[in-house]
Amino acid sequence: MSEIIVAVDGPAGSGKSSVSKEAARRLGYAYLDTGAAYRALAWHCLDEGVDVENADAVAERARSFDYATGMDPDHYFVRVGGEDITPDIREPRVTAVVSAVARVSEVREALNAMFRRMMSQHPRPGVIAEGRDITTVVAPDAPVRVLLTATEEARIARRSAEVSAQSTEATAQQLASRDRQDSRVVDFMTAAPGVITIDSTDIDFEQTVQALIDTVRSGLSTE
Ligand code: C5P
Repeated sequence: MSEIIVAVDGPAGSGKSSVSKEAARRLGYAYLDTGAAYRALAWHCLDEGVDVENADAVAERARSFDYATGMDPDHYFVRVGGEDITPDIREPRVTAVVSAVARVSEVREALNAMFRRMMSQHPRPGVIAEGRDITTVVAPDAPVRVLLTATEEARIARRSAEVSAQSTEATAQQLASRDRQDSRVVDFMTAAPGVITIDSTDIDFEQTVQALIDTVRSGLSTE
């Protein structure tokens, strides 16, 4: 059972997935991408023809959802029903509906219980878990809690570089609309009391990873 939980929240395009994964690799920790579970559920609903606006139907799927993900930062994967869907969950059609799935409270309860199980059942000395409500709901007692932010412009530029299949305008619109919808459910734009903010707008990837590692080390040394 791991005692050390590093909780990282932030909006789309803040770099939290890649930064958290790399920091976990360097610290020898496990990595938990909670957004991947919401995306995998959205993918599963699309695959099964479930109406994502039908909260009861989506909640039903969340309860019977055969989900698996790799928590080793060097062996990351996402599977549903044994099928590897690691790249599929990033498709724009999935991103477009994931917020609808994530606002269903029964879905959040089922996935949060799963995340807490996963955080206590890996073999590493610590885990970095990233998402939107890890610092506030999933692991509010974590010894290290971080909000990773960046300006909307910086986040759009990063996301556009990742998603080559659509225009910058489409990416910008999708990112802003997703943040708007998601922030109705959880506030991930302002740091809760005790949460340390790292603003990655003017620092590069390497510096952001280092800032997170430094925050983990100083957070643990004052424990
Ligand atoms: O982090 P990522 O952008 O992959 O998250 C995908 C979606 O999953 C978010 O837009 C949000 O709707 C949902 N999410 C959430 N709570 C989390 C992580 C992700 O609601 N802890």
